[in-house]
Amino acid sequence: MKCRHCQQELSHIFAHLHHQPASNSFLTEAQLQEAEMYFPLKLFVCENCYLVQVDEYKSCEDIFNNDYVYFSSMSSSWLQHAEKYVHMMINRFALNKNSHVVEIASNDGYLLQYFQNANIPCLGIEPTHSTACVAKEKGIETLEEFFCVELAQSLAKTRKKADLILGNNVLAHVPDINDFVAALPLLLNNNGISTFEFPHLLKLMDGNQFDTIYQEHYSYLSFSTVCRIFESQNMRIFDVEELPTHGGSLRIFACRTDGTMHKQTPAVSRLLEEEKQRGMLTIEFYHGFQTQIEKTKNALLLFLLEQKRLGKKVVAYGAAAKGNTFLNLCGVKPDLISFCVDKAPSKQNKFMPGSHIPIYEPQKLYEKKADYILILPWNIKQEIMEEYSALRENGTQFVVAIPELHVYK
Ligand SMILES: [Zn+2]
Repeated sequence: MKCRHCQQELSHIFAHLHHQPASNSFLTEAQLQEAEMYFPLKLFVCENCYLVQVDEYKSCEDIFNNDYVYFSSMSSSWLQHAEKYVHMMINRFALNKNSHVVEIASNDGYLLQYFQNANIPCLGIEPTHSTACVAKEKGIETLEEFFCVELAQSLAKTRKKADLILGNNVLAHVPDINDFVAALPLLLNNNGISTFEFPHLLKLMDGNQFDTIYQEHYSYLSFSTVCRIFESQNMRIFDVEELPTHGGSLRIFACRTDGTMHKQTPAVSRLLEEEKQRGMLTIEFYHGFQTQIEKTKNALLLFLLEQKRLGKKVVAYGAAAKGNTFLNLCGVKPDLISFCVDKAPSKQNKFMPGSHIPIYEPQKLYEKKADYILILPWNIKQEIMEEYSALRENGTQFVVAIPELHVYK
């Protein structure tokens, strides 16, 4: 396999999570009687550009099918994050009713609704039919397409060019990252801005967040590598912010290489230097991550087996993709975690892929008292523990397994 960015032959393994089902393929009861597809999940790191990347085993059309069930509006902290971003962008870049905002992977309109409320014209691009439908119901114009050079060319011909193109958690999801980034300058105004948020590879490694690795996620990005990719496609990164979201993300601000309005901030050189100091521009930095993964897996299994032996009941919170990856790596089934709860109605009364753990609505936590609740989306553990503090007072303990196993008494 060759590097998606620079075409270098890939030979260094970064992480190997064995075979996994597609992490968003939730199963109905009838589907439990059928065979299930598993795909190898192995990550390589390029020794030339340090892009960490997964091999493509399944075409994206298969994964992002109409049953894809992640609705961004389900998380209240994510909605607040989106609203804050919109106000910051309006103030910093003086966006107004004459501006044009395009969001790539706009999901259910969780973010564009705030631009719409501020009377700023916007367009969503979202290939997933079910989430695009919800956005359209909110009155947000949404194209059900994948963003690429071809689409940007046709939009640039028929519509106003964009003053802002944004994408949250999409940059890592595109199979052809060169083509995706190359599409930006085609649709952007001369002094238009593009912002992207994506999990920071440095934080992923520091936080042992291997469970955020899944098939839909093609790339794992350091700031240095993203700068390199953008530069190669006529885009210039002029600012960067470090965010706490998804265990540590970056928000990059980019413009066209020929755009002169946006001056580079000191944050850019500071972060490039930090990554260099940490060793991210050497292949040795990426070795050893796999050993850490195996340690974490063994710690969860030891905990679950011990609780089983003691006759304790363990359930899980949050049937998110990362939970599926982790549970399948560990080979956990309903004998060790009897059920999982999730706020998304589209996942309720289905089963987690691979582990076949049943998913119920959160109300079930009050009906069937558990000794331990394993929080799978560790990035929102605070929000969950606060929301269900009544259970804690009643003797239930919360557990997270990443970065290391911790019981909140
Ligand atoms: Zn490369």
